[in-house]
Amino acid sequence: MSSTERALVTGGAGFIGSHLCERLLDDGLEVVCMDNLLTGDMANIEHLFGHERFKFFHQDVTNHIHVPGRLDYILHFASPASPIDYLQLPIQTLKVGSLGTHKALGLARDKKARFLLASTSEVYGDPQVHPQKEDYWGHVNPVGPRGCYDEAKRFAEAMAMAYQRHHGVETRIVRIFNTYGPRMRLNDGRVLPAFMSQALRGEDLTVFGDGSQTRSFCYVDDLVEGILRLLRSDEKMPTNIGNPREMTIREFGEKILELTGSKSKFCTKPLPTDDPKQRRPDISKAKAVLGGWEPKVALEEGLKRTLEYFQARIDRVPAAN
Ligand code: UDP
Repeated sequence: MSSTERALVTGGAGFIGSHLCERLLDDGLEVVCMDNLLTGDMANIEHLFGHERFKFFHQDVTNHIHVPGRLDYILHFASPASPIDYLQLPIQTLKVGSLGTHKALGLARDKKARFLLASTSEVYGDPQVHPQKEDYWGHVNPVGPRGCYDEAKRFAEAMAMAYQRHHGVETRIVRIFNTYGPRMRLNDGRVLPAFMSQALRGEDLTVFGDGSQTRSFCYVDDLVEGILRLLRSDEKMPTNIGNPREMTIREFGEKILELTGSKSKFCTKPLPTDDPKQRRPDISKAKAVLGGWEPKVALEEGLKRTLEYFQARIDRVPAAN
């Protein structure tokens, strides 16, 4: 990418958005970061403020957005993204996925910018096909508690495809599987922040259900590399990015206990409604179209880096429950 290119990152003060802003600056771009700070945090981007190629707009992408100057890329990452967040913010989640995506696509059309949508493995719902490939249409309950997120992202994908086909906007769609790393909110209720905070506080780890449900965890740097390769690629259809190393939630908890040296035990809580029983990305398409991309950071290494971040903040953040 040339040093004069300019990118807008919506949700740029969030966990993944802030890593993207940082990486785009490292790659020589000008970065406009937009966030309404509903679930994003200024602390994630405060180290970027001194950078001459970085700008922050405190705006809600759900409303009309105005960005002066040229834009070559729009990376649309604004959305609550943890199950607790979208349970507490269902209307905002639906609005940012639908109205926000519409506004961001309109801006992309106006600026002749390439648009990348942050979609999610949640579009597959509680999948009946395993591992999940991009041509699987999913198994989603539209009226369950996760429906606001799943359907908003499915709508966002449909909207991106409509702008691509009808208006000729260059769109890319990444389906992001479970991702972890520094700058996750310690109390966002996701399994990694929950388990790590509990282990560090000497509390029991809350396993939902019997803990036999599976997830596959990707370190954020691997995800960002995949996203930027997709942005530069010619691939117009949705592409999974994630780490195919799958494990049960109980095994994941054991890894965290081992890493932290915690003496905590497991306790159980009821399994949330529509909690997917299994999830693992099939990344064969990503490998083929993104120049052999695959995750490089081993779980043990990624967890170590994340633990350092959590250790430095654990005393400042109240427990989630
Ligand atoms: N989970 C858990 N304990 C927690 C938080 C989550 O056992 O304190 C489980 C949850 O039921 C799900 C998995 O961990 O099966 C991953 O949950 P998360 O909220 O991180 O993301 P999801 O993949 O469900 O969107």
